[in-house]
Amino acid sequence: MAIRKVVKIGEANLRKKSKPVKDFDEDLWQLLDDMKETMQANDGMGLAAPQVGVLRRIVVMEVNNAFFELINPEIIKTKGEDVEEEGCLSVGPFRGRVKRPYEVTVTALDRYGYPFTLKGEKWLARCICHELDHLDGVLFVDKSMDKDKYLKQGGKI
Ligand code: ZN
Repeated sequence: MAIRKVVKIGEANLRKKSKPVKDFDEDLWQLLDDMKETMQANDGMGLAAPQVGVLRRIVVMEVNNAFFELINPEIIKTKGEDVEEEGCLSVGPFRGRVKRPYEVTVTALDRYGYPFTLKGEKWLARCICHELDHLDGVLFVDKSMDKDKYLKQGGKI
């Protein structure tokens, strides 16, 4: 395992759309292990592959001491809404409020290519939405209710 460099806002890869994973092989498992280690080393709740410069639809998350790997994830259902402050390893110290669904159901593949469904509430739902946005080049500051404050502080988009 290895800690990979986290791509920061302003770098082009963070704004690109990631492609689906096709090969469930040792390269993928290495990447997943590295992403987990990189997330934990940076005290993150989640990390998406484009944040380590890999434009593939892969996400790792650790919420309430439970660890998740999602490959080619798709949100199939959302319910309610919830507002909390978010941060991002690619954005830096700024935290801002974002409105997200309270409950999210997502389908994904595991590291061997088997499909599963995950339903999350509150922070897990928020984390799923935040990380899946990364796969389409979207960052929380784009959607934040505090975007003006971020821009006034000189924050990059
Ligand atoms: Zn993020």
